Order: sequence, then structure tokens, then C-alpha cells
Amino acid sequence: MPHQVASLPRRHAPAQPTTDYDVVIIGAGSAGLSAALTLGRALRRVMVCNGGAPRNAPSPGVHSFFTRDGIKPAELLQTGLQQLQPYETVEVRTAQVTQLRKQTGLFELVAEGETGRSFTVTARKVLLATGVEDELPPIDGMRDLWGRGVLHCPYCHGWEVRNQPIAIYGRGKIVTGMALLVSRWTTDVIVCTDGAGHLSENARRRLRQQKIKLREDPISHLEGKPNGELRHIVFENGEKLARYALFVHPHQHQRFGLLESLGCRLTSKGAVWVNKHAQTSVGGLYAAGDITPGPQKALLAAAEGMQAAIAIHEALTREECPK
Ligand SMILES: Cc1cc2nc3c(=O)[nH]c(=O)nc-3n(C[C@H](O)[C@H](O)[C@H](O)COP(=O)(O)OP(=O)(O)OC[C@H]3O[C@@H](n4cnc5c(N)ncnc54)[C@H](O)[C@@H]3O)c2cc1C
Repeated sequence: MPHQVASLPRRHAPAQPTTDYDVVIIGAGSAGLSAALTLGRALRRVMVCNGGAPRNAPSPGVHSFFTRDGIKPAELLQTGLQQLQPYETVEVRTAQVTQLRKQTGLFELVAEGETGRSFTVTARKVLLATGVEDELPPIDGMRDLWGRGVLHCPYCHGWEVRNQPIAIYGRGKIVTGMALLVSRWTTDVIVCTDGAGHLSENARRRLRQQKIKLREDPISHLEGKPNGELRHIVFENGEKLARYALFVHPHQHQRFGLLESLGCRLTSKGAVWVNKHAQTSVGGLYAAGDITPGPQKALLAAAEGMQAAIAIHEALTREECPK
């Protein structure tokens, strides 16, 4: 049941829709928990739906997070949850949101709790902080080594693999860009295109200029160590290439499957479009973190969560305080 928290007396407040919560936050990663903290401190009635593991769950550490460099992903979020406890207007529930509908002046959400039972709540505003899902190339071993031997971002993991033999997997412009970037952390970089004819002459020239090697043989599978580190890239011709790690730029899709039915505008890259106040194209529906355009980092997701929370609190305040 929603918390019953005494509201502060409001003078001349116009009638507001009666809802269970001021705000429901969907997702309890860096973006969602950071937003909950700011809204809790603003005395807002908030429910956070915690639907499970964050995107970086397979990784041993969150790097480049100011004051928390290298902290385990679960520990970072556990600290975030603990620091919400003093704010009695914030309720965190283990629940997966399965339906979200906009009605006049409010949203209705259906969520499935831990026991599998569904419940329905209403809120004046909703924040989507649901993250993205990475789609890894269909190569045996890729998923098993994801987050340790198979990496996506040199800003997150480059320092850990510095001066080591590294491979970059992919085709086209993206792989060239990634290889040039990673070559700042190590001089031993090989681009693996998993088949011939995927790079332009200009891309090959740029790689040669930086002494980055190219291997176009089709890949059979990846061989790793029991701790998840990469040992070899194995080609279809049976040859093995010893590498410490492999970088890949995976395609992504939105984890929250209801964006289309809500009428949420997406960018050409599939991110949720937001205006400068973190509001989506659907009035009252906000978004923060990896699901929005721009760099995807835990600290940036937390910052966007706070920004969205401020925008939401100010929108609610405007509705409560007539001119
Ligand atoms: C392998 C790997 C390593 C990384 N390492 C780093 C690093 O070192 N440093 C760094 O800064 N960044 C790193 N990142 C990026 C970082 O993980 C993301 O930027 C960050 O997690 C984004 O936070 P978020 O809150 O937007 O999304 P997430 O952390 O993915 O959280 C989204 C939450 O929403 C929940 N959710 C989704 N749908 C629903 C629903 N319907 N109902 C309820 N809940 C739902 C999910 O279960 C999840 O808990 C890494 C990413 C990967 C893949």
C-alpha cells in the first residue's frame, strides 16, 4: 500500500488529481535512485519500481564514478537504496511495470510484484529510468565474457586493459573510431572484422597510419578463462589469436517495451527524445539515464536523474501554485 504521509498545508492550492503518488519512478539504477533522492528530499510522495539488475551488472566495477571509482555495481546501488531510507515519502518496491496509461491529469500503472501478483497505482508524473539492453554479436563466448573480457567502452575499462594486447570487433566507421580511440591506451591493437570487405580504403589507411593491424578472417568463437577474461579469438580456419580483451560497440534496444504504445517520440538512434526539462513528447512523462540521447555513463545517468527530479518538482509546484 502507498505510504500515508501527512502533506504540508497548501494555501490557495487549486484542486489536484487525487493520486497514490506524486511521482512513480520506473527503474532503480543510477538515474532512478538519484531522482528518488532529490524528490524525497523535496517531500514528494514517490514510488520507485525496482525491476531488477542494471545494465552493468556483469561488470566487476563501476569506473570513473567520482568518489566511487571501481565500486561493484550492486554495491553502488545498495548504497543508493540505503540513503533513501531516511526519506519516509519514498517507497521502493521490487516490481516490474507492465502497463502504463495516461489519463486526464494522471498516469495509471500496473506492476507485477515479487510474488507475481499485479497491483495498480496512480501518479501525477512518471519518470522512465529503465535503461537499455545491449545486443551482442552472435558469436559463441561473447555473452559469457561480457563485462570482463568483452568490453564496450574505453572510458569505463581502458585503464584496466592499458598496455595489453587488445582486439576491436566490428565493421565500418564505428570500428575504426573505436580502434583509434583504444590505441591511446595500448599500442597493440588489432581490428577483427569477422569477414572480408567491410572497411573502406580510407579506414584502412587511417588504421595503417596508427600501426593498427587488421584481421578479416571469419571468427568461430571466443575462448575465455573461468574468471571471464578473454584468452583467445578463434578463427574459422582454426587459428587462435591471444588477446587480453576485445572491445565491441553493440546495438541496443530500449528495455521498456511500452514506449511506442504511449506515443513517445524516439530519436533516429532509438533513444527517448526529451526536451531541456527532461520531459518526453508525452506531457508529464519524463526520462533520464541511458534511455535518453548522449553518452551512457553511471555518473551521467545519476546527474540526469537529479535534473529530471528538479524539473518534475518544479512542474508539480507550478500546478499547485496558481499565478
Ligand atoms: C558491461 C558494462 C560495464 C559498464 N561499466 C561502466 C563503468 O565502469 N562506468 C560507468 O560510468 N558506466 C559504465 N557502464 C554504463 C552504465 O552501466 C550505465 O550508464 C548506467 O547503468 C545507466 O544507468 P540507468 O539508471 O540509466 O540504467 P540501468 O542502470 O540499466 O538501470 C535501469 C533499471 O531499470 C529497471 N527496469 C527496466 N524496465 C523496467 C520495468 N518495466 N519495470 C521496473 N524496472 C525496470 C532495470 O531492471 C534496471 O534496474 C557500463 C555498462 C556496461 C554494459
